[in-house]
Amino acid sequence: MACGSELLSPSPIEQPLAPATACDEKSAKALQFIEEVTKNTDSVQERVLEEILRQNADTEYLKRFDLNGATDRKSFKSKIPVVTYEDLQPDIQRIANGDRSTIFCAYPISEFLTSSGTSAGERKLMPFIHEELDRRQLLYSLLMPVMNQYVPDLDKGKALHFLFVKAETKTPGGLVARPVLTSYYKSDHFKNRPFDPYNLYTSPNEAILCPDSFQSMYTQMLCGLIMRHQVLRVGAVFASGLLRAIRFLQLNWQQLSHDISTGTLSPKITDPSITECMAKLLKPDPELAEFINMECSSEDWERIITRIWPNTKYLDVIVTGAMAQYIPTLDYYSGGLPKACTMYGSSECYFGLNLRPISDPSDVSYTIMPNMGYFEFIPHDDSSPLTLSRDSPPPLVDLAYVEVGKYYELVITTYCGLNRYRVGDILQVTRFHNTAPEFRFVRRKNVLLSIDSDKTDESELQRGIENASVLLKEFNTTVVEYTSYADTKSIPGHYVIYWELMIKNASRPPTNEVLNQCCLAMEESLNSVYRQGRVADNSIGPLEIRVVKNGTFEELMDYAISRGASINQYKVPRCVSFTPIMELLDSRVISVHFSPAAPHWTPERRR
Ligand code: AMP
Repeated sequence: MACGSELLSPSPIEQPLAPATACDEKSAKALQFIEEVTKNTDSVQERVLEEILRQNADTEYLKRFDLNGATDRKSFKSKIPVVTYEDLQPDIQRIANGDRSTIFCAYPISEFLTSSGTSAGERKLMPFIHEELDRRQLLYSLLMPVMNQYVPDLDKGKALHFLFVKAETKTPGGLVARPVLTSYYKSDHFKNRPFDPYNLYTSPNEAILCPDSFQSMYTQMLCGLIMRHQVLRVGAVFASGLLRAIRFLQLNWQQLSHDISTGTLSPKITDPSITECMAKLLKPDPELAEFINMECSSEDWERIITRIWPNTKYLDVIVTGAMAQYIPTLDYYSGGLPKACTMYGSSECYFGLNLRPISDPSDVSYTIMPNMGYFEFIPHDDSSPLTLSRDSPPPLVDLAYVEVGKYYELVITTYCGLNRYRVGDILQVTRFHNTAPEFRFVRRKNVLLSIDSDKTDESELQRGIENASVLLKEFNTTVVEYTSYADTKSIPGHYVIYWELMIKNASRPPTNEVLNQCCLAMEESLNSVYRQGRVADNSIGPLEIRVVKNGTFEELMDYAISRGASINQYKVPRCVSFTPIMELLDSRVISVHFSPAAPHWTPERRR
């Protein structure tokens, strides 16, 4: 462990320690709050619905369904339909185009949050009201008090947490549209957050708020290295983000170490607010530079996190849902440090937190906090997915009445004006904390492939195949079967598409060049979150097509049938991850192709 004096020595971006008692009192209050709301789940839910409906009684949306100012559950459930984004899209477009009337919410829409979920290839736009920030801040304020129950002394150092803002744009009507965390980091709630010894970051705001992802990451890594002994937890929002940071270190440690050795900042860092802030922080430290050279020049990067940041107690990253694929790599780089999945939320609403944050990833459950919104649940059964029509109201279950072991799809009603909105997440109830259910995040509906925050569904993949196939026409070639795989063995991960081709003119097969272009054509067809990951965030690598021998997909079917699949019902899986299947496919590969360039992407929406 680092010596105490090092932990306590104030850095230029640190403020003096607050008296422990004030913090303890705040923590105790936070824990008491959790107990209170979770003991009264149903009555809190009733009150929340009442508040939301009273607040929005005069909105066009609620009036459209003749709610007539009613605020009770029965009227609400009988009159207001369960909807998807597509149902709301025309009204959302009106707001985006500048309609300032109270369509969804009594409060003015302050901005749009751009969800990583997409509709027609573009990020969904979620109307947001300024007032909601306080509610979300409240949820954030509960996280460390919960964590402190499990991990002591987190006020004795800092978090190396890689936080980024992303591109923002304006709608035709002049409203800002940006991702939820970009909005939060740019808010006064974050920028002018009061001193809290449990929430000190090594990254200065100037680095977090820098829109250039290279400069932001470089500076955050540099600060993390300079303060390496003070670091008590290392993290990013999602596991993919933390691994990207490790990859960044692999690629840039020489320059970083040079900066530390000389006390000068790389010429690649040009953002004036960063250069000004780093001028105060960066002092020549040849000894630290030597240490970084020694650790990073080694071939062996196993446990690199604990070698460079020896006081790290846990990794602060979400490893549930699509992020579970990164657990083995995180374990490799951290020597199996605990991974804390602290909260569950979305652009639409923050849902809740993990009351046992140091649990094994397979045991992670999130308690939906009854004060955050009004929550209903569609019982979910994979074998008979529910279709909801207005004529036969769906049997939605209230938060307090879900049953342990059962699967549900989450439906929310929010203060921002979403009413009975299907989020698209499938959850399973694991247990109850007081009267509040805890949920395991099972998966997002209809998502086939995901590397970072991208989510590609079956129809998007199909469209990609169709668009790429156009290039094969002149070679009289068609794609007869395909499947896909999210390859996260290298960082950043990338999509792999297996193709079985029918080449009608064997003397003129498609050239390598054309198959490479097919990769790019697929990428151009994928949604804007994917393309942003490829272009702006560098969080996704070039798409790969692996052409397999003729007959491979028949072998795949034989394999499935040998394991009990019904021959009549057999469908080619459009995404695979099961090792024996991967091995079969990979052993039949005859050629491999990569996208030769990045697809097009700009923050502006295509429609
Ligand atoms: P976005 O609207 O882009 O912020 O994405 C929100 C979605 O990310 C949620 O609806 C979930 O599908 C996913 N998500 C958020 N938090 C978690 C979590 N803790 N574990 C798994 N998936 C999550």
